[in-house]
Amino acid sequence: MPAKPSSVVGTCGLCKTTDTPLCYSDLIPKAIPRWVRLSMEGDPNPNPVVITKSKAVQTNFRVAEYFLCPACEERLNIGGETWVLRNAYRGGDSFPMRDALAQAQLIFRLRDSGFLDVSTVPEFQLSKLVYFAAGIFWKAAARQWWSVDHDTQLGFGPYEDRFRRYLLGEDAFPERAALLINVSGNPKPLICAMFPYCGGRIAGTWQYRMALPGLVFWLHLGHLPVHLKAIDSVRNNAVFLVPNLDDVFVRDGGKLVTLTTPVASLLR
Ligand SMILES: [Zn+2]
Repeated sequence: MPAKPSSVVGTCGLCKTTDTPLCYSDLIPKAIPRWVRLSMEGDPNPNPVVITKSKAVQTNFRVAEYFLCPACEERLNIGGETWVLRNAYRGGDSFPMRDALAQAQLIFRLRDSGFLDVSTVPEFQLSKLVYFAAGIFWKAAARQWWSVDHDTQLGFGPYEDRFRRYLLGEDAFPERAALLINVSGNPKPLICAMFPYCGGRIAGTWQYRMALPGLVFWLHLGHLPVHLKAIDSVRNNAVFLVPNLDDVFVRDGGKLVTLTTPVASLLR
């Protein structure tokens, strides 16, 4: 669906066009809270539970700001979001992205996860998945986002503008960035999301994390050690297939803004 401009006029965060109508841009696709609500059909309050550092509330809240012009919203949709939303787990029995990995070749195994080459799997459009994830991480770094009870913004330093140019098609994926993509092997993963947050200093880099239903992304920025380059999805045309990612939401869920169904263990 084409993005709707609002009556708010300003400068687009991505293409920097001035005096343009801005869209009410979501940090993560607004389809995802809808999938959470659908997964709770029949519940008297089908809104997602939004967990922040200080509280857990069941609300129909959108993390969104007047940020991008309609052309840039469309650019992000066509560049990745449309394909990802069509192939992600949305509830029910279908998880096309996971199923496509059955045809992928194993590069190596790391504990119980397989690092799979997707370059020969036409159904798996890795470039779209990378562009999509980069777009969300970049949005989280490019401005502040009001999230229920606090503002949040990732500190990308000089990488913010490098990612902006990559998203505009003016530059390649940043050299000093590694994106580790994990796909759940569980055919029916939890319908939850974790908004982008900083995971701290790891292997001499800054790590940023984000999770969507059946998908976990780790972005490393800085001087990359060899072992991180070896598991980077962009350099290797590969993703990790992990037997189950649901425990990520339980482990990391309380640290940041999370959208989830009301599972008692997540609210403790
Ligand atoms: Zn724009």
